[in-house]
Amino acid sequence: MIKLKNFSSFFVANWKLNGDFKFIDQFLNELKMPEDPSRCIVICPMSIHLDYLRKKKNNFYVGAQNISQHKEGAYTGEISCNSLSELNIEFCIVGHSERRQIFSEINYDVNAKLLQLVEHDIIPIICIGETLEEKENGKTNEVLAKQLDECIPKTSNSENTIIAYEPVWAIGTGLTPSIQEIELTHEFIRNHKKKFNDFKILYGGSVKSSNSNEIVKLINVDGALIGGASLKIEEFTKIIQD
Ligand code: PEP
Repeated sequence: MIKLKNFSSFFVANWKLNGDFKFIDQFLNELKMPEDPSRCIVICPMSIHLDYLRKKKNNFYVGAQNISQHKEGAYTGEISCNSLSELNIEFCIVGHSERRQIFSEINYDVNAKLLQLVEHDIIPIICIGETLEEKENGKTNEVLAKQLDECIPKTSNSENTIIAYEPVWAIGTGLTPSIQEIELTHEFIRNHKKKFNDFKILYGGSVKSSNSNEIVKLINVDGALIGGASLKIEEFTKIIQD
């Protein structure tokens, strides 16, 4: 398994339900990887493109966007952890707010997915974050604490699991918390029950080339999870090179 400790920062592209084979070819032709090998670049295409991207991969890693919590069985349309392992996929986003909101995933499901991934030596990138209403009611830390407690299993540790803080209201909206808010929230996550001190903690939510550097260089931020801007090759290149 990849040694997370060997990397100084992580840049994870979440392509969501976007891209086709032509897009992938063009993207990879134009992608300029950072010279600094301590930057870990992970690209997460839709599942049908995982194998294609993996076969073309150069010095980046490939991740899935979701996985079934079930090992096998009568779960039509699902993708198993075992099948990801067979493709040598190294990472998997779990508990993204779009999965929680659109597909009704709850912490219990997210926890079961993490258990599967850790068992299969695939690194989960577990997303946590508050909604705008929760933020406005001063509930951010309470919500994050509950998500951390209920989603992250005992088998997770700093070597096999990454946390991504993604305020739901910042995803795809162009809005971001202030730099100070990001730092404080990451500090809160890191210190929660003294459990996540060594974990890599990424920030996600409207990261673009104009704000990525300022965010990623914060003491408690170990990288970024990037949605919209990861589909624009110029933007993404600037973010990972900066
Ligand atoms: C995401 O989907 O995880 C995300 C952070 O999206 P965006 O960068 O577009 O806000």
